[in-house]
Amino acid sequence: MSSKTLKKFLADEIADLKNKGVFRPLRIVDGHQAPWTVIDGKKVINLSSNNYLNLTNHPKVIEAARKATLEYGAGAGAVRTIIGTMRLHDELEKKLAAFKKVEAVLVFQSGFCANQGSIGSIMTKDDLIFSDRLSHASIIDGCRLSRAKIVVYEHNDPKDLQAKLEEYRENPGKKLIVTDSVFSMDGDIAPLPELVDVAEKYDAFFFVDDAHASGVLGSCGRGSVDHFGLHGKVDIQMGTLSKAIGVMGGYIAGSRDLIDYMIHRGRPMLFSTAHPPSVPASVIAAIDILQNEPEHMERLWSNVEFWKTELRNIGFNIGNSVTPITPVIIGEEAASMKFSDRLMELGVFAQGIVFPTVPRGTGRVRTIITAGHSKDDLIKALVAFQKAGKEFGAIS
Ligand SMILES: *Cc1c(COP(=O)(O)O)cnc(C)c1O
Repeated sequence: MSSKTLKKFLADEIADLKNKGVFRPLRIVDGHQAPWTVIDGKKVINLSSNNYLNLTNHPKVIEAARKATLEYGAGAGAVRTIIGTMRLHDELEKKLAAFKKVEAVLVFQSGFCANQGSIGSIMTKDDLIFSDRLSHASIIDGCRLSRAKIVVYEHNDPKDLQAKLEEYRENPGKKLIVTDSVFSMDGDIAPLPELVDVAEKYDAFFFVDDAHASGVLGSCGRGSVDHFGLHGKVDIQMGTLSKAIGVMGGYIAGSRDLIDYMIHRGRPMLFSTAHPPSVPASVIAAIDILQNEPEHMERLWSNVEFWKTELRNIGFNIGNSVTPITPVIIGEEAASMKFSDRLMELGVFAQGIVFPTVPRGTGRVRTIITAGHSKDDLIKALVAFQKAGKEFGAIS
């Protein structure tokens, strides 16, 4: 038996995606997630990975995963709150707390889970959440799960945030301000010092999502709070272990009470199995590398500077990016996707991104430079960008 209602629903939705030109089969990668990789059978320069420091391929990270698997097995076998917390999980959380200079840390299965599990459990239907207009989907989902009232403030605009807090001044509920530190589509940075000032003025507490700042900003990649010298001023920090750290997972850093509360109320903690031992083991190795091998971050930032300068010199519009995420803005939706396809023909993979992920008319290809790219790789990619840019009239 099969449901006609379901069949019709799916067929209509897929036809709609195809009509809009946004239906995309998954691209298949062979081999490592590396600066050069084989995508859909073609060897290309990879400009779309979040593997900022190329740690997915670091021998010490790989060896730690191998060793932990041999010693402790392939899986954790239970949720953290029953008997899924192995010695390595505990060791990683203590290490991250010291690294982030906070009282305590709790690691979730992913950054997505960390946002959902924390915001979703701390806020209630009587509370208010003030969220940046461009907050990540996992923040939005966490806010919705909490059933709190969501007030959206204009992107990176402390004045608008203040006006919104003023409007709700008399509201008795808890007030949370939440923002990404580095925005994933534009590569701009939130003005955290100004936002924190507003939070203090209105007795709101502050949550920052450091997904794209972990391992990228601050000393040894400690993140945006360290970058701005705001230690002790941000109540809740979320970080990822899946992007620059090169493995997988997300974490919440803050007070001991915050962590104890989430151990009892954070739903992914209570109802979804813990990471396999290889995950905390390889993340521990990655955090050691951040602290002992500064060359990876140095190479990342030197590559980023070179890439941005050259793109600007060629004449591309790269928006307000100040981080390794560099959009090359093309404008029209279909042209942006075709530009990405043309780059692929020329041996460069850079994902095209269009409405509704970014505003209409600001279609782009998004590039992410990593520590693993050589200058020669970047020059090859620039040649392809220049050629495609001229063909599409994006540069003269
Ligand atoms: C990627 C991302 C997440 C989710 O992290 P995962 O570890 O991939 O689940 C959360 N927030 C932001 C801003 C992100 O870019």
